[in-house]
Amino acid sequence: MSFQTLGLSEEILKSIKEIGYETPSEIQQQAIPHVLMGRDILGCAQTGTGKTASFMIPLVEILITGQSKSRMPRSLILAPTRELAMQVSEDFNIFNKYLKLQMALLIGGISFSEQDGKLAKGVDVLVATPGRLLDHIERGKVMLKDVKILVIDEADRMLDMGFIPDIEKITKLLPKIRQTLFFSATLSDEIRHIGKNFVINPKEISVNPDTTTATNIESYLINTSHEDKLSNLKKILNIEKIKNAVIFCNKKIDINKVNIFLKKNKFSTVCLHGDMNQSARINSLEEFKSGLAKILVASDVAARGLDIAGLSHVFNYDVPNNPEDYIHRIGRTGRAGLSGKAFTLCSEKEIKSLTLIEKLIKKSINVYKFDEICLESKSPKIINIKSNKLNEEEVLKNKNNHPNIPPIENFINFKQSGQIPSFLTSK
Ligand code: AMP
Repeated sequence: MSFQTLGLSEEILKSIKEIGYETPSEIQQQAIPHVLMGRDILGCAQTGTGKTASFMIPLVEILITGQSKSRMPRSLILAPTRELAMQVSEDFNIFNKYLKLQMALLIGGISFSEQDGKLAKGVDVLVATPGRLLDHIERGKVMLKDVKILVIDEADRMLDMGFIPDIEKITKLLPKIRQTLFFSATLSDEIRHIGKNFVINPKEISVNPDTTTATNIESYLINTSHEDKLSNLKKILNIEKIKNAVIFCNKKIDINKVNIFLKKNKFSTVCLHGDMNQSARINSLEEFKSGLAKILVASDVAARGLDIAGLSHVFNYDVPNNPEDYIHRIGRTGRAGLSGKAFTLCSEKEIKSLTLIEKLIKKSINVYKFDEICLESKSPKIINIKSNKLNEEEVLKNKNNHPNIPPIENFINFKQSGQIPSFLTSK
């Protein structure tokens, strides 16, 4: 199947060509024709599968005809976090490049008056987090009576974050006759039950249920004592050829600790967590996405939806407490057919969480040994890395022996060029 056979307008095909998508991904092949036919969707898709475009492309296509009225959006996309909503809005901008649809992004941390100005002019697409949308509704700044298409993205995350009552409140304000696209990374019985309240006779589609990790991610386990985590993190950062990396921590206090430590050791880092104000979060993301900072030290705020073109590495400074978060964290790399590497630092105290992860992904994670700089596929066990410490010279020697990856400068931004670097595809 090609994008040309989907019956899309010239303007959208042109923007798809420019962004470099050659063929629709599996979820896009399954979803786009049905959305264009006006069907409701109950979709199960992991992030990284092209899920956003699977609803955004047909949504934009459907909205080409028609006009919006002041304060009455024609479509509504609900996302659980500010970051995800921002990213969804970026995808809208891609496919709207040669069209003139209007969009507003309603998320916390941005001034009400700016958002209000856009609503007053009339928008075709409203992308929002539930809380901020309800604030605008309560202030009488937006009416949802004209919404023809509703998208609920990352429904399982909405459930985790306690947003389902808000979504129910919002959907009561929407017309009963509408098209609803409901997406979740997992379709547990609970999510399916919730989903069925929002959709009518949906087409069920499912791609890569969320109990598997993407096959193009090499994931390794570094067994370490709690005290040696920082030094082992530094060691692995020096050994690996990092283009850009996200380091996940479970606690905000550790985000700051890791960030300060790495800065002291001359790594260019920024951090991202829920306690930062919106402009600081946006600044961090922009610095990281533009390549000004090579490392983002983050909480799980960044684990969902964050899409950095060609992210080369993910590090778990801590083993995530919730096993599904492991899949979401490491899924930030190995996206769009590219390969990536993920390293998890695990101390003795975290073995329980690790066991849960390995049960979920149905395999044990390869153990990485600093002394051999080689990989072993065997059940994890605690090894004493302290006694195997490398000196700077050895680290440099190992660095040179490492698989032959071209320098960072050769890495072409996949999003901009549309070309997957050959050294990555041939791996
Ligand atoms: P998502 O699952 O929506 O987070 O998308 C993951 C990544 O896949 C994003 O970087 C998209 O730009 C990229 N992508 C989406 N659709 C395609 C496609 N058909 N071909 C290549 N890359 C794609």
